[in-house]
Amino acid sequence: MPVADLLNICANLLPQARAVREQVWGKQVFTRGIVEFSNHCQQNCLYCGLRRDNTALTRYRLSQQQIMQAAHSIKKLGMGTVVLQSGEDPAYDQQCIAQLIRRIKDELGLAVTLSLGERPAADIKAWKQAGADRYLLKMETFTQPLYSRLRPGCQLEQRLNCLQDICQAGYESGSGLITGLPWQTRAQMQEDLETLAAMKLDMVSLSPFSPHPQTPLARYLPDQATNNLQALAFIRCHNPTSHIPVSSALALYGQEVKLEALTNVCDVIMLSLTPADVRSAYNIYPGKNLSPLRPYVRAREILNDLRKHGFELPNSPGSAWRHYACGERGDG
Ligand code: SAH
Ligand code: SF4
Repeated sequence: MPVADLLNICANLLPQARAVREQVWGKQVFTRGIVEFSNHCQQNCLYCGLRRDNTALTRYRLSQQQIMQAAHSIKKLGMGTVVLQSGEDPAYDQQCIAQLIRRIKDELGLAVTLSLGERPAADIKAWKQAGADRYLLKMETFTQPLYSRLRPGCQLEQRLNCLQDICQAGYESGSGLITGLPWQTRAQMQEDLETLAAMKLDMVSLSPFSPHPQTPLARYLPDQATNNLQALAFIRCHNPTSHIPVSSALALYGQEVKLEALTNVCDVIMLSLTPADVRSAYNIYPGKNLSPLRPYVRAREILNDLRKHGFELPNSPGSAWRHYACGERGDG
Protein backbone atom coordinates (compact mmCIF):
# COMPACT_ATOMS: atom_id res chain seq x y z
CA MET A 1 0.00 0.00 0.00
CA PRO A 2 1.50 3.38 -0.96
CA VAL A 3 2.33 5.17 2.25
CA ALA A 4 1.58 8.55 0.71
CA ASP A 5 -2.10 7.65 0.90
CA LEU A 6 -1.90 6.63 4.52
CA LEU A 7 -3.69 9.56 6.05
CA ASN A 8 -6.53 9.48 3.58
CA ILE A 9 -7.29 5.82 3.90
CA CYS A 10 -6.40 5.22 7.50
CA ALA A 11 -9.96 5.23 8.68
CA ASN A 12 -10.28 2.18 6.44
CA LEU A 13 -7.09 0.60 7.73
CA LEU A 14 -8.48 -0.13 11.19
CA PRO A 15 -10.86 -2.90 10.04
CA GLN A 16 -8.03 -4.42 8.00
CA ALA A 17 -5.69 -4.26 10.98
CA ARG A 18 -8.37 -5.80 13.18
CA ALA A 19 -8.83 -8.74 10.82
CA VAL A 20 -5.05 -9.35 10.84
CA ARG A 21 -4.81 -8.98 14.61
CA GLU A 22 -7.64 -11.46 15.12
CA GLN A 23 -6.25 -13.96 12.66
CA VAL A 24 -2.78 -13.99 14.22
CA TRP A 25 -3.41 -13.42 17.92
CA GLY A 26 -7.15 -14.11 18.35
CA LYS A 27 -8.49 -12.56 21.54
CA GLN A 28 -5.14 -12.87 23.32
CA VAL A 29 -3.51 -9.96 25.08
CA PHE A 30 0.00 -10.63 26.38
CA THR A 31 0.84 -8.93 29.63
CA ARG A 32 4.21 -7.57 30.72
CA GLY A 33 5.06 -6.20 34.15
CA ILE A 34 7.42 -3.25 33.93
CA VAL A 35 9.87 -2.16 36.65
CA GLU A 36 11.14 1.37 36.03
CA PHE A 37 14.19 1.00 38.27
CA SER A 38 16.00 4.32 37.73
CA ASN A 39 14.96 7.74 36.47
CA HIS A 40 18.54 9.01 36.22
CA CYS A 41 19.53 9.73 32.64
CA GLN A 42 22.70 10.95 31.02
CA GLN A 43 20.82 11.97 27.86
CA ASN A 44 18.98 15.18 27.21
CA CYS A 45 16.20 14.24 24.75
CA LEU A 46 14.08 17.33 24.20
CA TYR A 47 10.79 15.43 24.56
CA CYS A 48 11.44 13.51 27.79
CA GLY A 49 10.81 14.45 31.41
CA LEU A 50 13.79 12.37 32.56
CA ARG A 51 16.25 14.46 30.53
CA ARG A 52 19.34 15.40 32.51
CA ASP A 53 18.59 19.14 32.45
CA ASN A 54 15.26 18.64 34.22
CA THR A 55 16.44 19.73 37.67
CA ALA A 56 12.84 19.83 38.99
CA LEU A 57 12.67 16.02 39.00
CA THR A 58 13.44 14.03 42.17
CA ARG A 59 15.76 11.25 41.07
CA TYR A 60 15.72 7.68 42.42
CA ARG A 61 17.48 4.37 41.96
CA LEU A 62 16.03 1.03 43.10
CA SER A 63 18.17 -1.60 44.82
CA GLN A 64 18.37 -5.13 43.49
CA GLN A 65 16.16 -6.21 46.38
CA GLN A 66 13.46 -3.67 45.49
CA ILE A 67 13.55 -4.72 41.84
CA MET A 68 13.25 -8.39 42.84
CA GLN A 69 10.26 -7.60 45.04
CA ALA A 70 8.51 -5.99 42.08
CA ALA A 71 9.44 -8.98 39.90
CA HIS A 72 7.86 -11.32 42.49
CA SER A 73 4.63 -9.28 42.28
CA ILE A 74 4.68 -9.66 38.50
CA LYS A 75 4.92 -13.44 38.87
CA LYS A 76 2.13 -13.45 41.47
CA LEU A 77 -0.14 -11.54 39.08
CA GLY A 78 0.36 -14.31 36.49
CA MET A 79 2.34 -12.24 34.01
CA GLY A 80 5.05 -14.05 32.04
CA THR A 81 7.50 -11.21 31.44
CA VAL A 82 9.46 -8.67 33.46
CA VAL A 83 10.45 -5.53 31.55
CA LEU A 84 13.40 -3.71 33.11
CA GLN A 85 13.38 -0.06 32.02
CA SER A 86 15.37 3.02 33.04
CA GLY A 87 16.91 6.23 31.85
CA GLU A 88 20.38 5.79 30.42
CA ASP A 89 22.04 5.22 33.78
CA PRO A 90 25.57 3.79 33.75
CA ALA A 91 25.43 3.39 37.55
CA TYR A 92 23.89 0.00 36.75
CA ASP A 93 26.90 -1.56 35.07
CA GLN A 94 27.22 -4.70 32.99
CA GLN A 95 27.77 -6.97 35.97
CA CYS A 96 24.96 -5.52 38.05
CA ILE A 97 22.35 -5.95 35.28
CA ALA A 98 23.66 -9.44 34.45
CA GLN A 99 23.27 -10.48 38.08
CA LEU A 100 19.74 -9.14 38.15
CA ILE A 101 18.79 -11.03 34.99
CA ARG A 102 20.21 -14.27 36.43
CA ARG A 103 18.24 -13.82 39.66
CA ILE A 104 14.97 -13.21 37.79
CA LYS A 105 15.55 -16.27 35.61
CA ASP A 106 16.67 -18.53 38.49
CA GLU A 107 14.14 -17.47 41.12
CA LEU A 108 11.11 -16.77 38.96
CA GLY A 109 11.66 -18.29 35.50
CA LEU A 110 10.10 -15.26 33.82
CA ALA A 111 11.04 -13.85 30.42
CA VAL A 112 13.18 -10.70 30.71
CA THR A 113 12.92 -7.70 28.40
CA LEU A 114 15.50 -4.92 28.65
CA SER A 115 14.83 -1.27 27.77
CA LEU A 116 17.91 0.53 29.03
CA GLY A 117 18.76 2.79 26.10
CA GLU A 118 22.00 2.59 24.15
CA ARG A 119 24.66 0.37 25.71
CA PRO A 120 28.03 -0.92 24.49
CA ALA A 121 27.95 -4.08 22.36
CA ALA A 122 29.81 -5.96 25.11
CA ASP A 123 27.01 -5.23 27.61
CA ILE A 124 24.33 -6.26 25.15
CA LYS A 125 26.11 -9.59 24.55
CA ALA A 126 26.78 -10.24 28.23
CA TRP A 127 23.13 -9.69 29.16
CA LYS A 128 21.97 -12.07 26.45
CA GLN A 129 24.37 -14.66 27.84
CA ALA A 130 23.01 -14.00 31.34
CA GLY A 131 19.59 -15.04 30.04
CA ALA A 132 17.79 -11.89 28.89
CA ASP A 133 15.24 -12.67 26.19
CA ARG A 134 14.29 -9.36 24.57
CA TYR A 135 15.57 -5.83 24.08
CA LEU A 136 13.56 -2.77 23.10
CA LEU A 137 15.36 0.26 21.66
CA LYS A 138 13.08 2.75 19.96
CA MET A 139 14.60 4.81 17.16
CA GLU A 140 11.99 7.55 17.86
CA THR A 141 12.51 8.85 14.28
CA PHE A 142 14.67 7.78 11.35
CA THR A 143 14.77 11.34 9.94
CA GLN A 144 18.35 12.54 10.40
CA PRO A 145 17.93 16.30 11.04
CA LEU A 146 14.91 15.74 13.27
CA TYR A 147 16.74 13.06 15.24
CA SER A 148 19.77 15.31 15.85
CA ARG A 149 17.55 18.19 16.93
CA LEU A 150 15.48 16.11 19.34
CA ARG A 151 18.35 14.09 20.81
CA PRO A 152 21.22 16.54 21.23
CA GLY A 153 24.65 14.90 21.33
CA CYS A 154 23.29 11.60 19.97
CA GLN A 155 23.77 10.10 16.55
CA LEU A 156 21.18 8.25 14.52
CA GLU A 157 23.91 6.00 13.12
CA GLN A 158 25.02 4.99 16.60
CA ARG A 159 21.49 4.06 17.69
CA LEU A 160 21.02 2.03 14.52
CA ASN A 161 24.29 0.24 15.24
CA CYS A 162 23.10 -0.52 18.75
CA LEU A 163 19.85 -1.94 17.36
CA GLN A 164 21.93 -4.08 15.02
CA ASP A 165 24.03 -5.32 17.98
CA ILE A 166 20.77 -6.29 19.71
CA CYS A 167 19.51 -8.26 16.71
CA GLN A 168 22.89 -9.94 16.18
CA ALA A 169 23.17 -10.96 19.84
CA GLY A 170 20.05 -13.08 19.29
CA TYR A 171 17.48 -11.11 21.28
CA GLU A 172 13.83 -10.94 20.35
CA SER A 173 14.24 -7.38 19.14
CA GLY A 174 12.03 -4.34 19.19
CA SER A 175 12.05 -0.74 18.15
CA GLY A 176 9.60 2.04 17.49
CA LEU A 177 8.75 5.67 17.07
CA ILE A 178 7.15 8.63 18.75
CA THR A 179 4.30 9.76 16.48
CA GLY A 180 3.33 13.39 15.96
CA LEU A 181 6.69 14.84 17.02
CA PRO A 182 7.19 18.62 16.83
CA TRP A 183 8.71 19.73 13.51
CA GLN A 184 7.82 16.35 11.94
CA THR A 185 6.07 16.60 8.59
CA ARG A 186 3.41 14.10 7.55
CA ALA A 187 5.71 12.85 4.84
CA GLN A 188 8.51 12.24 7.36
CA MET A 189 6.23 10.31 9.65
CA GLN A 190 5.05 8.19 6.77
CA GLU A 191 8.62 7.47 5.73
CA ASP A 192 9.51 6.56 9.31
CA LEU A 193 6.62 4.10 9.42
CA GLU A 194 7.70 2.49 6.17
CA THR A 195 11.30 2.16 7.30
CA LEU A 196 10.22 0.63 10.60
CA ALA A 197 7.78 -1.80 8.99
CA ALA A 198 10.47 -2.96 6.55
CA MET A 199 12.70 -4.03 9.47
CA LYS A 200 10.22 -6.81 10.33
CA LEU A 201 11.01 -6.69 14.03
CA ASP A 202 9.64 -8.99 16.72
CA MET A 203 8.20 -6.05 18.66
CA VAL A 204 7.10 -2.60 17.53
CA SER A 205 6.07 0.26 19.78
CA LEU A 206 4.60 3.62 18.77
CA SER A 207 3.85 6.24 21.40
CA PRO A 208 2.01 9.49 20.73
CA PHE A 209 4.05 12.59 21.50
CA SER A 210 2.92 14.05 24.78
CA PRO A 211 4.48 17.42 25.75
CA HIS A 212 6.09 17.45 29.18
CA PRO A 213 5.87 20.80 31.01
CA GLN A 214 9.50 20.64 32.20
CA THR A 215 11.02 20.18 28.76
CA PRO A 216 11.81 22.56 25.90
CA LEU A 217 8.84 21.04 24.00
CA ALA A 218 6.30 21.99 26.68
CA ARG A 219 4.33 24.25 24.37
CA TYR A 220 4.04 21.96 21.39
CA LEU A 221 0.79 20.17 20.59
CA PRO A 222 0.31 16.56 21.67
CA ASP A 223 -0.22 13.94 19.00
CA GLN A 224 -3.84 12.96 18.50
CA ALA A 225 -4.98 9.50 19.52
CA THR A 226 -6.42 8.89 16.05
CA ASN A 227 -3.09 9.67 14.43
CA ASN A 228 -1.29 7.20 16.68
CA LEU A 229 -3.98 4.55 16.09
CA GLN A 230 -3.69 5.01 12.36
CA ALA A 231 0.06 4.59 12.51
CA LEU A 232 -0.36 1.46 14.67
CA ALA A 233 -2.86 0.03 12.17
CA PHE A 234 -0.40 0.60 9.35
CA ILE A 235 2.28 -1.34 11.26
CA ARG A 236 -0.13 -4.20 12.11
CA CYS A 237 -1.04 -4.58 8.43
CA HIS A 238 2.62 -4.70 7.40
CA ASN A 239 3.95 -6.67 10.38
CA PRO A 240 1.10 -9.11 11.15
CA THR A 241 3.02 -11.26 13.64
CA SER A 242 4.89 -8.55 15.55
CA HIS A 243 4.02 -7.93 19.17
CA ILE A 244 2.60 -4.41 19.39
CA PRO A 245 1.94 -2.91 22.84
CA VAL A 246 -0.54 -0.22 23.70
CA SER A 247 1.95 2.42 24.81
CA SER A 248 1.28 3.82 28.25
CA ALA A 249 1.23 7.26 26.60
CA LEU A 250 -1.73 6.15 24.43
CA ALA A 251 -3.48 4.47 27.38
CA LEU A 252 -3.48 7.88 29.09
CA TYR A 253 -5.93 9.11 26.42
CA GLY A 254 -8.59 7.08 28.25
CA GLN A 255 -10.16 3.65 28.60
CA GLU A 256 -12.06 3.88 25.32
CA VAL A 257 -8.93 4.60 23.31
CA LYS A 258 -7.06 1.81 25.07
CA LEU A 259 -9.80 -0.72 24.27
CA GLU A 260 -9.98 0.47 20.68
CA ALA A 261 -6.23 -0.02 20.34
CA LEU A 262 -6.40 -3.53 21.84
CA THR A 263 -9.39 -4.59 19.78
CA ASN A 264 -8.07 -3.38 16.45
CA VAL A 265 -4.30 -3.55 16.60
CA CYS A 266 -2.35 -4.16 19.78
CA ASP A 267 -1.76 -7.53 21.46
CA VAL A 268 0.39 -6.46 24.42
CA ILE A 269 -0.16 -4.38 27.52
CA MET A 270 2.53 -3.25 29.96
CA LEU A 271 1.65 -2.63 33.60
CA SER A 272 3.95 -0.74 35.93
CA LEU A 273 4.95 -2.51 39.15
CA THR A 274 7.41 0.22 40.08
CA PRO A 275 7.12 0.77 43.86
CA ALA A 276 4.49 3.29 45.00
CA ASP A 277 6.93 5.64 46.75
CA VAL A 278 8.94 6.43 43.58
CA ARG A 279 6.74 5.60 40.62
CA SER A 280 5.35 9.11 40.04
CA ALA A 281 8.96 10.31 39.58
CA TYR A 282 9.26 8.10 36.49
CA ASN A 283 7.67 11.03 34.76
CA ILE A 284 8.61 10.63 31.10
CA TYR A 285 5.42 12.39 30.02
CA PRO A 286 2.71 14.09 32.06
CA GLY A 287 0.17 11.88 33.80
CA LYS A 288 2.34 8.76 33.82
CA ASN A 289 2.22 6.55 36.95
CA LEU A 290 -0.10 8.89 38.83
CA SER A 291 -2.78 6.43 39.93
CA PRO A 292 -3.50 6.68 43.66
CA LEU A 293 -3.88 2.87 43.84
CA ARG A 294 -1.02 0.60 44.95
CA PRO A 295 0.75 -0.74 41.83
CA TYR A 296 -0.22 -4.37 42.57
CA VAL A 297 -3.89 -3.49 43.14
CA ARG A 298 -4.03 -1.30 40.08
CA ALA A 299 -2.42 -3.97 37.88
CA ARG A 300 -4.85 -6.62 39.18
CA GLU A 301 -7.81 -4.34 38.44
CA ILE A 302 -6.64 -3.68 34.89
CA LEU A 303 -6.14 -7.40 34.24
CA ASN A 304 -9.63 -8.23 35.57
CA ASP A 305 -11.12 -5.45 33.52
CA LEU A 306 -9.52 -6.79 30.34
CA ARG A 307 -10.93 -10.26 31.06
CA LYS A 308 -14.38 -8.70 31.52
CA HIS A 309 -14.03 -7.15 28.07
CA GLY A 310 -13.51 -10.62 26.58
CA PHE A 311 -9.74 -10.67 26.16
CA GLU A 312 -7.76 -13.81 27.00
CA LEU A 313 -4.64 -13.22 29.07
CA PRO A 314 -2.18 -16.08 28.65
CA ASN A 315 0.36 -16.48 31.44
CA SER A 316 2.94 -17.92 29.06
CA PRO A 317 5.89 -15.62 28.24
CA GLY A 318 4.33 -14.29 25.01
CA SER A 319 7.50 -14.80 22.98
CA ALA A 320 8.22 -13.49 19.51
CA TRP A 321 6.12 -15.19 16.85
CA ARG A 322 9.11 -17.13 15.46
CA HIS A 323 9.52 -18.84 18.88
CA TYR A 324 5.88 -18.76 19.88
CA ALA A 325 4.77 -20.50 16.71
CA CYS A 326 7.26 -23.33 17.38
CA GLY A 327 6.12 -24.26 20.86
CA GLU A 328 4.39 -21.79 23.04
CA ARG A 329 1.18 -21.60 21.03
CA GLY A 330 -1.60 -23.34 22.87
CA ASP A 331 0.25 -23.23 26.22
CA GLY A 332 -1.58 -20.16 27.28
N1 SAH B 1 15.97 5.52 28.25
C1 SAH B 1 15.53 4.47 27.42
C2 SAH B 1 14.20 3.88 27.86
C3 SAH B 1 13.26 4.76 28.62
S1 SAH B 1 12.44 5.99 27.69
C4 SAH B 1 15.44 4.94 25.98
O1 SAH B 1 15.37 6.13 25.76
O2 SAH B 1 15.49 4.09 25.11
C5 SAH B 1 11.13 5.06 26.97
C6 SAH B 1 10.43 5.71 25.80
O3 SAH B 1 9.62 6.79 26.22
C7 SAH B 1 11.31 6.32 24.74
O4 SAH B 1 11.82 5.36 23.88
C8 SAH B 1 10.36 7.28 24.03
O5 SAH B 1 9.82 6.69 22.88
C9 SAH B 1 9.23 7.49 25.05
N2 SAH B 1 9.03 8.91 25.35
C10 SAH B 1 9.87 9.74 25.99
N3 SAH B 1 9.33 10.99 26.08
C11 SAH B 1 8.12 10.94 25.46
C12 SAH B 1 7.08 11.90 25.24
N4 SAH B 1 7.17 13.17 25.66
N5 SAH B 1 5.97 11.50 24.57
C13 SAH B 1 5.85 10.23 24.16
N6 SAH B 1 6.79 9.26 24.34
C14 SAH B 1 7.92 9.63 25.00
FE1 SF4 C 1 16.81 9.46 28.77
FE2 SF4 C 1 15.36 7.70 27.38
FE3 SF4 C 1 14.29 10.01 28.31
FE4 SF4 C 1 16.05 10.12 26.32
S1 SF4 C 1 14.01 9.11 26.25
S2 SF4 C 1 16.04 11.44 28.14
S3 SF4 C 1 17.42 8.44 26.85
S4 SF4 C 1 15.03 8.31 29.51
